[in-house]
Parts: sequence; structure tokens; C-alpha cells
Amino acid sequence: MDIKSDTDVIVVGAGPSGIACAITIAKKGNKVLVIEKASDFGVKNMFGGAVYLESLKELFPDDYQNLPYERFLKSHNYVILNDENSVCVSYNSKNSDSATITRYSFDTYLAQKAMDLGVYFIQNTTVEDLILKDGNVVGVKTENEEIYSKIVVLAEGFNSILSEKTGLKKKTEPKDAILGVKETIRLSCELINERFQLQDNEGKMFQFFGGLAKENEDIPFALGFMYTFKNAVTIGVGVSMKSLQDCKVKPYEYLERLKEKPFVKNLLSDGEVIEYSAHSIPEGGYNELPKLYSNGVLLTGDAANLVDSVHFEGTNLGIKSGIIAGEVCNMAIIKNDYSKKTLKEYKKALYKTFVIKDLKTYKDVIQTLFKRKSSIFSFYPKQIDEFFKLWTSASNKGKKQGYKTFLKEFFFKRSLIELIKDVISFVKCLIGAIV
Ligand SMILES: Cc1cc2nc3c(=O)[nH]c(=O)nc-3n(C[C@H](O)[C@H](O)[C@H](O)COP(=O)(O)OP(=O)(O)OC[C@H]3O[C@@H](n4cnc5c(N)ncnc54)[C@H](O)[C@@H]3O)c2cc1C
Repeated sequence: MDIKSDTDVIVVGAGPSGIACAITIAKKGNKVLVIEKASDFGVKNMFGGAVYLESLKELFPDDYQNLPYERFLKSHNYVILNDENSVCVSYNSKNSDSATITRYSFDTYLAQKAMDLGVYFIQNTTVEDLILKDGNVVGVKTENEEIYSKIVVLAEGFNSILSEKTGLKKKTEPKDAILGVKETIRLSCELINERFQLQDNEGKMFQFFGGLAKENEDIPFALGFMYTFKNAVTIGVGVSMKSLQDCKVKPYEYLERLKEKPFVKNLLSDGEVIEYSAHSIPEGGYNELPKLYSNGVLLTGDAANLVDSVHFEGTNLGIKSGIIAGEVCNMAIIKNDYSKKTLKEYKKALYKTFVIKDLKTYKDVIQTLFKRKSSIFSFYPKQIDEFFKLWTSASNKGKKQGYKTFLKEFFFKRSLIELIKDVISFVKCLIGAIV
């Protein structure tokens, strides 16, 4: 068989969503070709480092345990940072539903599994355009050739030029995108276990709030993250593109500031930076969902804005959307109908899963919090710090006087209007999540 002249489905992009889609199609014996612009799997892709096992269980029911995981996340830590001080809330669990893995070994493992099932890959090749006939997508144009198929699945990630060209998706605005910058820092396994208080393959993750702006600077909408691997720790910052425009601070400057915080510095000291990377994340969520299908074409993963920014989840949404896209392709092949009439089943099925349900739950959270960013990332972290200073020190004035002064200063610094706005935003997020 010549796959290029006889393929059922072309998948653009060998990230988690594209490969999950290809695997689902190949499992049913249909012919699928994945075209990837990078020369090797995972080399151009990056993430913080945690994959959630649920979607992987569905993709590999018998051997999802066999992926080259680094550490299983049993400790989730949420850290409020101030200039020098920090407050940390830890959730430590016996079992784990997520694990760290390097992007290179994750993507390579997925691709190898796909190849074992007969998926054909063309690497080092960029899809430049889609081929249209009578309003249907019928193939792709690469820099070298034209290749035809019954369906094209666009799993091209954040830089979704083709999805925009089809008119299914509009260009992402800065308010709907995050730029993530990350360093991988090598530390010995023993040192990681000792400093992070871990054993064997246990892992820890951290989310950091606040502490990134200097005095008199605009407060950025930015979150830090840190994950433990076997012999390395990844640390990064995700900053809203809108904040980068407004604050005029470079993203790596925020990362440097995060690394300088005593909480972080002590954990990473003597580590060697072995990798630096940057990548964008769509965060428009439910409100910015593109049109997910048209005649002969489907959108999956980041290309379809399927990222849950509240929980730092992208790979599992990508994999789940890839699986469903693959199932709908298989159905279309059986029906021999590649029009919207059949492909609309993709949207229907996706809306029944956690992918759309979770995005809907948090649909207004990011934009609401963006408007209150100085409260969340500056004012309240400082107040929490003040409170703990009081809580952990003794003074001749006595605790009661301390609390009175704390409350007086709190209401002096915060006008009633601002406080009401904060409460309304919080309630809005809460109602959105539960109603
Ligand atoms: C800083 C950062 C931290 C993150 N942390 C996490 C995390 O801890 N956990 C988590 O679950 N998610 C995380 N994510 C999100 C996660 O990485 C993405 O949601 C996920 O990779 C999306 O998968 P995808 O297959 O849709 O796209 P991608 O992984 O981006 O893959 C798209 C592929 O398409 C290829 N491609 C693009 N255009 C073309 C073309 N025209 N022709 C051929 N090939 C093309 C690209 O080279 C790439 O290989 C993070 C993201 C960032 C940036």
C-alpha cells in the first residue's frame, strides 16, 4: 500500500492529541498518516511536566502504567509568595492520579505505540495549506507535495495557522493566551529526595501565587510552577500575554524573580540549568471555543483551545479530544460520509465529556480573576503574610490588640468598593462553577 495515495485520515501534528487520534483510528484498522514539522518527536514541544492518568488509561487500557513516568505526584503544594516570606498549603495523598514525564519521552513513547499499530509518520515536514474541493477539505499541501485523504484532523497546537485559514478559528488575542517559560534544573535524585522529602518515585508539584512584581510595577497575571523529576526539577512561569504587553517586563525576568525567592532558592541551590524553553498556551477556554468541525476536517487539543488553565491541564484534554476525533473518523469511514453531517458527532460527543464540562465550569474564572489580578497576586498575599507574622510572633501589646490593628490597617488599605468587587468576583467564579 502507498500510504500517501491511499490514506483515510491525515493528522497534522504529532503532539498528544494528534497521536491519540491516530492510535484510535489505527486500532480499527483504518489508514492514518501523521505529518509533523519537527525532525523528532517532542523536540519542539514543551510543558510543565505532569500528565493526568485518566485519559492515558482510556488510550492504553492494558499498559498505561508502562509509560516512562519520572515521579508520581503525591504532594500538591499551593504557595503564596511575598518578597521574602511564603505561606504553603499542601495536599498529600496516598495515591496519585498524575505523574511527571519529560515531553521528549512522552511524545516518543506515544509515537512508537502508534507506529506499532501501523500509523505512518512523515517528520520534518510542515503542512502549509489544506486542499479544498467543493467546500470540503480533501487533503493537505506540504512544502514538497499534495497528499489527499478523506478527513484531515488539525492537531497543530497553539500556533494553529491552518485552523485559522479554514475559518474555523479566529486569531488568538493576547488576553486569551499565556506565555510559559520554563527551565529544567539538574539535581541528583538523592538531593531531590532529601530536599523535597520524597521517597522512591514519589513526586511533588508546586503552584506559586504572587510575589513576582517589584514595588511600583503593574501586577502581572502570572502563576509559577515547579515539578520534581527523577534527576531534575522544572520551574516556570506562565504570564498572560496581555500582562506582558502592559507590564513591559520580560517573562524570563519573572522566572528569575521566582527563582530568587527563598522558598525556591533553597530547594534549587547548586542545580545546573540544562534546558530553557518557552511556549504559548491558549486560555480562552469555553468562551473561545472555535468551530470544532467542518466538511472533511476536525480540530483537536490546543488547536481547539482545549486547555483547562485553572488546573494546568492540557495533555489530558488533548488526548481525550484526539480519542473522540478518532472514533468519529472511524464512524465516518464506515458511513462513507465525511461531511459536517457526520463530523458534527465529534462536537456532540466532546460536549458529553469532562473536556467541555470542565471548561464550562471555569468559563469566566480567568477573565474575572484577570480583572482582580492586583487583589489576588499582591494585596491578599501581603495581607496573609501580615496575618501570619502576627500569628507567629509574641508582643507585649497582646494578640487582641494585634488583631485590631491588623483589621484597621486592612480596611484602611482596602476601600469598601474594592472589597465588594473582590467578593463579587469570587462569588461569580463560585456560582459559575457550581450552578
Ligand atoms: C509552559 C507550559 C506548561 C504546561 N504544563 C502542562 C502540564 O503540566 N500538564 C498538562 O497536561 N499540560 C500542560 N501544558 C499544556 C500541554 O502542553 C498542551 O495542552 C498539550 O501539549 C497539547 O497537545 P496538542 O497535541 O494539542 O498540541 P502540541 O503538543 O502543541 O502538538 C502540536 C504538534 O503539531 C506540530 N505542528 C504544528 N503545526 C504544524 C504544521 N503546520 N505541520 C506539521 N506539524 C505541525 C507541532 O510541531 C507539534 O508537534 C503546558 C503548556 C505549556 C506551554
